[in-house]
Amino acid sequence: MRDETGQIVKWFGTCTNIEDQKRIEEALRQSQEHVSILMNSNIIGIFVDEGEQIVEANDTFLRMTGYTREDLCEGRINWRHMTPPEYLALTLQANQALDAQHVVTPYEKEYVCKDGSRLPALVGAVLLQHHPRQAIGFVLDNSARKELEQRKDDFINMASHELRNPLTALKMQTQLVRKRLEKQSQHEAATALARMEGPIKQLERLIAELLDVSKIQAGRLEYVRERVDLDELLREVTATIHHLHPSHTILVRGSVHTSLIGDRDRLGQVFTNLLSNAIKYSPDAQTVEMDLSASDEVVTIRVRDHGLGIPRELRDKIFERFYRVTDPKRKAIPGLGMGLYIVAEIIKHHGGTITVESEVGKGSTFTVTLPRKREAWAWKGRHARRQRL
Ligand code: ADP
Repeated sequence: MRDETGQIVKWFGTCTNIEDQKRIEEALRQSQEHVSILMNSNIIGIFVDEGEQIVEANDTFLRMTGYTREDLCEGRINWRHMTPPEYLALTLQANQALDAQHVVTPYEKEYVCKDGSRLPALVGAVLLQHHPRQAIGFVLDNSARKELEQRKDDFINMASHELRNPLTALKMQTQLVRKRLEKQSQHEAATALARMEGPIKQLERLIAELLDVSKIQAGRLEYVRERVDLDELLREVTATIHHLHPSHTILVRGSVHTSLIGDRDRLGQVFTNLLSNAIKYSPDAQTVEMDLSASDEVVTIRVRDHGLGIPRELRDKIFERFYRVTDPKRKAIPGLGMGLYIVAEIIKHHGGTITVESEVGKGSTFTVTLPRKREAWAWKGRHARRQRL
């Protein structure tokens, strides 16, 4: 309070404890520092988008994609334009997940960089706000992993070719010598040699599967287009499998009474594989069953076993490349995890579906459906020489 001359005559002081406020400020400062360390790190690309436009980005994201800060400030970075057409559906699906769950778990995609080159990336995102819709995205450069994957695929492709040639020579030579020995009535030696043919066939099948896997990866698996009498094909397949695995009886119920357009050998491969697996993974059972039926639209083939079964959470995984269920009971059962991957690919190509129902310790049922009418599905991909219709 001042007197009439302006002199201060009284004053009041107040004192507030701002310890809490200071602590909050310090925590905020620290968290901003952490965010800025992350933003400025050279490791991860970070951007904020609003609608389709990227409105903020760190230097790493700009460096990865070849855009400049000027491009960013002038609104020239748009994630839709940066998404190649084949990744658009996946990206839109990720955005839906973002809306629904407020977070997108990391998924693989590619970005088109400013110079038109492609950046393989691992992308995750978190929703910041709904209106206007803003999200923060995290981008890891995935090129090194993709390159390694490519090198692995190239190796598998090369290895399967390199292995196939000497094996073919070995097979022919063995057959030749066996026949010669038989002619010379050296039956004991001929029988010993004949025993080599089983393992050679097994090797041949494994190498063929490796080659198929590598062709699928490269989108170069060839298909023949021909009329296939399914009942006849299935009879042949079951007879061959029974001959190879006399331990089990194959009970066939019903018939499909129809033929369809497809690749006979590849379809044979599907059912050979499913029946072999059914036998292989039911070592204590004596029978496997195959149920056949047809409606106007589709034929349905069910392969059922009474074996080990598949845990629920792994039922999708078993169709992935090189995936094998690893539990002690299966340890001694040989395999490389290629069969079902190839099976699923062949069925997909024929416009069909494959599903599995299973109970651990009780058995599994694989259900294949194939469309009856050729018009019902588009025949895509590469076609081989034969076109018998
Ligand atoms: P592989 O049999 O060579 O391992 P597959 O791709 O044919 O490869 O099968 C993948 C995995 O699925 C197998 O490792 C096996 O654990 C499981 N599986 C396939 N068929 C059956 C079946 N009928 N019963 C139980 N498990 C199966």
